[in-house]
Amino acid sequence: MVKYNEEYSILDGEGYGEYCLECGTELPFGRPDRKFCSRECKNRWHNGHHTKTRNSKLRVAHVLEKNYRILSNLIVSGITSLPLTGLSFLGFNPLYSTCSYKAGHREMRMCFDIVYCLTPTKISDIAYVDTILSPRDKA
Ligand SMILES: [Zn+2]
Repeated sequence: MVKYNEEYSILDGEGYGEYCLECGTELPFGRPDRKFCSRECKNRWHNGHHTKTRNSKLRVAHVLEKNYRILSNLIVSGITSLPLTGLSFLGFNPLYSTCSYKAGHREMRMCFDIVYCLTPTKISDIAYVDTILSPRDKA
């Protein structure tokens, strides 16, 4: 009888604090790496997780699309430099870009095929990459 209680307390100690990641139900004893109480909870948790990831990717893609549209409109308008305050007013988010690199001391950013120099107060030298790589072809 005593042995049973000792074993039970050991098992109980291992199981204590293990809860289903989806519903929070205390997990029955079983595999030590078990995370869910049921297949339904496992599916629900994974669907929710993927939805969250997908929404996060869509949000970033939306910000990049908007940045690109703003930069593209600036180029078309012949504007190659603008203060960040003005860009912010247009809805530009300087935290998002598709690439960044240093050109000497200059902090360069890219939004797809548009390149620009970013400083703490403005962006400048906004241009399509292909006009920089082969300016003679464009002329
Ligand atoms: Zn559950």
